[in-house]
Amino acid sequence: MLPTFDPRDTEAGSRILEDITSNAGHIQEQVLEEILTKNASTDYLKSFLNGHSDKGLFKNKVPVVDYEDIKIYIDRIALDGEPSRILTNESITELLISSGTSGGKHKWIPKTAEEGERRAFFFCLLATVQNRYLHGLNDGKALIFDLINPDIHTPGGLVLRTATASEIKNRKDRYPEVILCEDTNQSLYSQLLCGLVQRDAIVSIGTIFASGLQRIIKFFEEHWQEMSSNIRTGQMSDWITDPKCKRTVSLILSKQMPDLADSIDLVCQEKSWEGIIKKIWPRTKYVQAIITGSMAQYIPALEFYTGRLPVVSPAYVSSEACFGINFKPLCNPYDVSYTFIPNMAYYEFIPIGNHQDPNCTNSKDAHLKDHIVDLANVKIGQHYELLVTTCTGLYRYRMGDILLVTGFHNITPQFKFVQRRNVVLSIDTDKTTEQDLQNAVTIAMHILEPLGFFLLDYSSYADTSSIPGHYVLFWELQLRSNDDIPELDQVKMEKCCSLVEQSLDLEYKMLRNQSISTIGPLEIRVVKQGTFNVLMDFYVSRGTSLNQYKTPKNIKSEKAIEILDSRVVGKFYSREVPNQDS
Ligand code: AMP
Repeated sequence: MLPTFDPRDTEAGSRILEDITSNAGHIQEQVLEEILTKNASTDYLKSFLNGHSDKGLFKNKVPVVDYEDIKIYIDRIALDGEPSRILTNESITELLISSGTSGGKHKWIPKTAEEGERRAFFFCLLATVQNRYLHGLNDGKALIFDLINPDIHTPGGLVLRTATASEIKNRKDRYPEVILCEDTNQSLYSQLLCGLVQRDAIVSIGTIFASGLQRIIKFFEEHWQEMSSNIRTGQMSDWITDPKCKRTVSLILSKQMPDLADSIDLVCQEKSWEGIIKKIWPRTKYVQAIITGSMAQYIPALEFYTGRLPVVSPAYVSSEACFGINFKPLCNPYDVSYTFIPNMAYYEFIPIGNHQDPNCTNSKDAHLKDHIVDLANVKIGQHYELLVTTCTGLYRYRMGDILLVTGFHNITPQFKFVQRRNVVLSIDTDKTTEQDLQNAVTIAMHILEPLGFFLLDYSSYADTSSIPGHYVLFWELQLRSNDDIPELDQVKMEKCCSLVEQSLDLEYKMLRNQSISTIGPLEIRVVKQGTFNVLMDFYVSRGTSLNQYKTPKNIKSEKAIEILDSRVVGKFYSREVPNQDS
């Protein structure tokens, strides 16, 4: 049973947080016991445990799995309409579309009413932490951008939606009506318009992921004149036809506001949009968005647009479960760690010997199970891959996320989100991970930063159409001054290519250095501005939700590569072979 409390009661929330983080090991044992007792009779667990609910047996017999291993069970429920009890004795009410893909397809994760309550508890704890550390949050309004897609129904009769859409649709009364609009352009336009009219009341701004905030700023750049004209005349644009948007906006935009429109024009007409968030919403104290893991690439852009407001990366959550809360919301973005909440699910961890090679943990490895540790036994300074066991029917399920233990709150471990398990680039024996690439790109950008550039977004693929194959990076650059990108200095760009190579690992450098090299010179293709928005639109058109969208760092789809390639404005190659000794 989860303790209940009023999320506005910070004292009560803090007491619960202290209590659960002082008893994490014990709570985890209880959580596992509850899952096994509840679900021992499911088809899935019965096939390994013969109806027993013994924890030792669970650790011995139940295999570590990927989505592909359990997809057959989920498909039986989702497509064939078989009952939930194949996987769980809670009743599956929805399937959450996870942004992680499996063979190019989204994953479908079971959700139950009880899971909804667990999530609600998690978000009350999160509110406690925020009320405790983010002073002044209640002195005004939060402008939190949320976007939802229309529901999809599976042939088996279940609703498919994202975790955010599920939260919003199940608690409609807590959200402004405009957020329920399923047309993302109309919804975003209306949310921004409401935020502009109430600009003096806004004290915090947020999206789920940092990439979303960047997208919103671009949208604002394209639409501010129209919004300002709406405010001036007190008339909403004709293309806003959704009744929910119309109702919400008309309540706020009830009269002509020429002075407000003038002041917005003044800010937006400035040539550089440096600090635009702070200028448009001058009372903003915090920006909330996840900026860890692959989102770290957006930190420089966010610092630029927010005028260096504190960026709060609140939590580590997923469609599968909610995991951890950032107990130091005002810390440096690069130092964020999440304290795991022990009541949410049962967690286990596969130690990663050499985190540079995260694929070394092969789920088919017979000895893998011998190395797994539980939450109470993780070691500080060690990297792990997270496994999760939930009441909703996931057992020893690999999240694919690599975490580093950075400390403890009471006896509960705190984790830094390091990267997704997947290798993003691979040719021959080289395996370059998301984090290797992120580090290398950050270092290479030091060449361009003094010239006023920052990297808006990037992606990559291994081009093996010629021999030897080589890595291609697509870069979208932006100037701080907002000027058009001038012709790029060839020497400097080639230096960027070499620096990326120099920053990759020894294996890469060895393969580049062989007398007949196995990997050719790295290439950077600079794309014109707006390209990564077009790429996002492409993925959104194929079912990804804007809220969840994360730019894929390894592009596999030919169509997506075509989109990027057709917008290339400059191609540059490394001219130096990387030095293996540094
Ligand atoms: P989804 O199920 O689509 O919501 O995506 C969940 C995935 O997003 C997780 O498995 C992580 O890879 C990523 N994610 C969620 N929260 C964070 C975070 N705080 N930092 C970095 N990555 C995150």
